[in-house]
Amino acid sequence: MLSTMMHTPLTLSHLLERAGTLFPKSEIVTRMPDKSIHRYTYADFYRRARALAEALQRAGLQPGDRVATLSWNTYAHLEAYFGIPVAGGVLHTLNLRLHPTDIAYIINHAEDRFLIVDDVLLKLYEAIKGHINVEKVIVVPLSGQPVPAGLTSYEDFLATATGDFSYPDLPEDAPLGMCYTSGTTGHPKGVVYSHRSTILHSLGSALPDVLNLAQRDVLTPVVPMFHVMAWGLPFTGVMVGCKLAMPGPHLDAVNLLDLYESEQVTKTAGVPTIWMGVLQALQKEPTRWKLLPMEMVVGGSAAPEAMIRAFDAFNLTVLHAWGMTEMSPLGTVSRVKGNLADEDADTAYARRASQGISVPLVDVRAMNENGAVPWDGTTMGELEVRGPWVAASYFKLESERDKWSADGWFRTGDVVTIDAEGYVKITDRTKDLIKSGGEWISSLDLENALMGHPAVREAAVIAVAHPRWDERPLAAIVLKEGMSVSAEELRDFLAPKVAKFWLPDAIVFVEEIPRTSTGKFLKSQLRDKFKEWSWE
Ligand code: ADP
Repeated sequence: MLSTMMHTPLTLSHLLERAGTLFPKSEIVTRMPDKSIHRYTYADFYRRARALAEALQRAGLQPGDRVATLSWNTYAHLEAYFGIPVAGGVLHTLNLRLHPTDIAYIINHAEDRFLIVDDVLLKLYEAIKGHINVEKVIVVPLSGQPVPAGLTSYEDFLATATGDFSYPDLPEDAPLGMCYTSGTTGHPKGVVYSHRSTILHSLGSALPDVLNLAQRDVLTPVVPMFHVMAWGLPFTGVMVGCKLAMPGPHLDAVNLLDLYESEQVTKTAGVPTIWMGVLQALQKEPTRWKLLPMEMVVGGSAAPEAMIRAFDAFNLTVLHAWGMTEMSPLGTVSRVKGNLADEDADTAYARRASQGISVPLVDVRAMNENGAVPWDGTTMGELEVRGPWVAASYFKLESERDKWSADGWFRTGDVVTIDAEGYVKITDRTKDLIKSGGEWISSLDLENALMGHPAVREAAVIAVAHPRWDERPLAAIVLKEGMSVSAEELRDFLAPKVAKFWLPDAIVFVEEIPRTSTGKFLKSQLRDKFKEWSWE
């Protein structure tokens, strides 16, 4: 028997049409490079995204051609997010924080044909232009400076459209966009999302028990649109039709808090480093900003429990989520299930600080040498995932096939426990694990516990070779301004919280923890720095 249902393709043109017809009055607000506010509506966005699609086609864009963007979170970038894919092109967002050599490598590897660049980033373009071969460079005039000769102004480019645009017939498996992982080890690896994977990811993300995004929300994606598609939020936000408040290049705490207040933001998303800054600003001037109750999605690195608790005091709710470039990126979200509502407050915080349960359509399992580990909350294994928005391969990179299991699951490289309720807790990345005397020590648990100390701003724990135990943990600590604490006091603080053999033998105080381009601790650099550590 066959089903009797229609098979309409899941493509982005549907979301754009919906946005233009149902939500023309929803606003899109952008903080511009000069800090002024640019404000327009979905009606403008709809018209301009379609104009971009038409202009690209007139310029010769063929289905599957890559169009790169080098841009902040702005209305123009949002136009590219929709205009490129609905024309059949592939939106390739470039991470502007990478070294120019890496950006050039990525552009060449992806074979980008067009490049859209913010005028405030032209210096970066100058640094790469000798090493790339794109056909046309389109400059978004955000600062009011004239566009350099030889390059095309984005506004002039849009003006080549006549309004006579019809969507090409795209199959739902057509490529929509691509991102490269930040490549802390080896060359960056490219992942190509499809229209279908993006639509399903958007539907999944918006669900009440996932990010709970609704038309009435006001959404500020702080996570850059050049990092894993801002976690898909531009697509999810436009799908539900909510107002968007884009921070542009201004990601510091005061500018963000000003934007949250003036635009009445209810939902925002970013990495823990950003929220650390916001928390400090709030603690310094607790009454300065009148904010609505806001949900702050945190991912990319572990959200320390102390941070979740501290934001609660301001009526700001941290929602911890886990994901990866290879997963579009959403994998798990940590909300407390209804049947667990009676647990005591400490247990509830521990749950919220875990990475949470898998979102619909994503399967998770954790594997060790004996196969799938039991969901007992203590046995560690490598997290593997499967689902319609999980990558099945990398772009032009056969050598990485062992990232997928024989039965087709993606190996995340994250080491986790899963408890009986399905809550996943990341204990480490495989490459960061500390193995002491044959036992595993979780660097993330130690960091989380250390960051609970009132004098500690940041803590990163790494493995250092040890003559007797193989490896022992070393904790690098950044203190809060004007605070002090000794190594001994920190060990006493940790003692009741972790197994005795976990206690870091070495605790060093540093000015800052090195970070990757996406704000994660760069542990390889710390390991290099401390590799000659003397344990005497
Ligand atoms: P890269 O792998 O290049 O750093 P991603 O941004 O795709 O780029 O990073 C995915 C990784 O980030 C995950 O595998 C995990 O190690 C880490 N990560 C993401 N979210 C969380 C989280 N909530 N808690 C802990 N680690 C996280």
